[in-house]
Amino acid sequence: MRLLTVVLLCVSLMGVAVHPRAQHADRIFVNGKIWTADKSRPIAEALAISGDKILAVGSSKEIFDLRDSDTSVLDLKGRFVVPGFQDSHVHFPGPPINTVRLAGLETLDAFQTTLAAFAKSHPNLKWITGGGWGYSAFPRQAPNKKYIDAVISDRPVYVSERDGHMGLANSKALEVAGITRDTPDPPNGHIMKDERGEPTGELKEAAQSLLRRHMPRATDQEVYETLLHHMAEAAADGLTSVQNASWSPADQPVYLRALAEGALKLRFRFATPMLPGEGLSPREHKLKAPLTPADLKYYKELRDTFQGPLIKFGAIKGMLDGTVDGRTAAMSDPYVGGGTGIPFWDQDDLNKTVALYDKEGFQVLLHAIGDKAINMALNAFEYAATTNGTSGRRHRVEHGEVPSPADLPRFKQLGVIASTQALFANPDETTLKNYAVLLGPERASRANAFKLYDDAGAVQAFGSDWGVFDFAPLKGIYCAVNRTTAEGTPKDGWYPQNRISVEAALRHYTIDGAYANFDEDIRGTLAPGKLADLVVLSQDLLKIEPSEILKTKVLLTVMGGRDSYRDNDLR
Ligand SMILES: [Zn+2]
Ligand SMILES: [Zn+2]
Repeated sequence: MRLLTVVLLCVSLMGVAVHPRAQHADRIFVNGKIWTADKSRPIAEALAISGDKILAVGSSKEIFDLRDSDTSVLDLKGRFVVPGFQDSHVHFPGPPINTVRLAGLETLDAFQTTLAAFAKSHPNLKWITGGGWGYSAFPRQAPNKKYIDAVISDRPVYVSERDGHMGLANSKALEVAGITRDTPDPPNGHIMKDERGEPTGELKEAAQSLLRRHMPRATDQEVYETLLHHMAEAAADGLTSVQNASWSPADQPVYLRALAEGALKLRFRFATPMLPGEGLSPREHKLKAPLTPADLKYYKELRDTFQGPLIKFGAIKGMLDGTVDGRTAAMSDPYVGGGTGIPFWDQDDLNKTVALYDKEGFQVLLHAIGDKAINMALNAFEYAATTNGTSGRRHRVEHGEVPSPADLPRFKQLGVIASTQALFANPDETTLKNYAVLLGPERASRANAFKLYDDAGAVQAFGSDWGVFDFAPLKGIYCAVNRTTAEGTPKDGWYPQNRISVEAALRHYTIDGAYANFDEDIRGTLAPGKLADLVVLSQDLLKIEPSEILKTKVLLTVMGGRDSYRDNDLR
């Protein structure tokens, strides 16, 4: 009830803000090169904004004619404009402020130095937490508590691996959590142990919760500040919309506060966990009891209450497997060295659960990385459509890293969206040591191969899995187009046959994301009547050499007609 009151209050506040003269050009942008993502007018010079929407798109002269005395004019000076970027897979509110960032550190020395410096500059934190490390930072790719103990032994430390499916604790943290050589693995989790049976400090999947429950919970104020901090970063990267791949009811007051205060810099769509109250997958790979429509009551309330354009629900997130690095992605054929990974769901349970959501009108997002898991996801979507006689649900495979060639055409046939992460193809040390080594060259050549989905005619929405990975769309575009690191290695690109064009990458970050969120009628293209979400870039991405993409700057981000980021270089 309280939730509804806040929402109604917001609606009435927004009502007052609507410009009484809807046809008035509040702002015009002229003399630019505008890539609209609108097939009826792919390129334009200028556009006009009225309130939160685009009033007109056309030549500079046509748009100038709409100007009156109080219209603000931005001369783009030939700069490049695109629709606001959408990241289709993120985890807001994201890493709490006051946590250590270990992403991109490739040596043990860098890992230890960064941790030690953070601990020194944060003497009052009871726990040191954070994440982003990769296996390549450790000797023989073997993370161990001793490497943290050497620099921090007096306070508990727990830092997540870069995809968040595992983490590394120091001895103090294991002690606080009571994890010893005698602690058994929890369902769906592993406490890694050395040859003498001692915990190494590495905790995989569900084993992480043994430790997390001892970590101090952030207050609402801390979560709010975290949200504001990361939204500002996202706006500076040109993002105007996100699909959150997670949702915690505990964060609800924080988002409602941001909505009420007019502080949202992104449009949010949230995905609620597939098993209400339990999580993303059954604890024992088998459901104790099937879900019933009554279990979906809270999700339906959220969906009915929040219909956008700033906060929206209606998506459900499930999890079918782990990751390639962890050898937990479910593969049809064994990894090099053995093992196939274990799917978290039984196919029959998955079919029935997905079919229930499908019948109730929800869109289902399934984390599936290995070819076996991707196959199971597609089977479940097909089962749901056939059983319910439904279509157009736009169910999604999240990550879809190693699809089998036989399954690729099924994406288009079933209308399933490939929700991929552009920077997963960044061929850094960790990537190079992972895919070809663990999967062999043939399967590695199909890993994070965005071209395969494009060629198969699938709708592909780009995201980042931010929370740990970088969400900057320009970095994602660079990577998908070049398939090299920022330093340009490997010289010829990582499986360069999988490169895609700049235009394709732009679509995956704009209109395809809007489609994946059922928002293509209100945004994703720059056309009259659409929400005024756009980004001004310093360079024309369609003209420059692909190797120069990273030199491009975001100069201005506009969401709903208002600046959400403005760079000092914009003059
Ligand atoms: Zn995932
Ligand atoms: Zn994720």
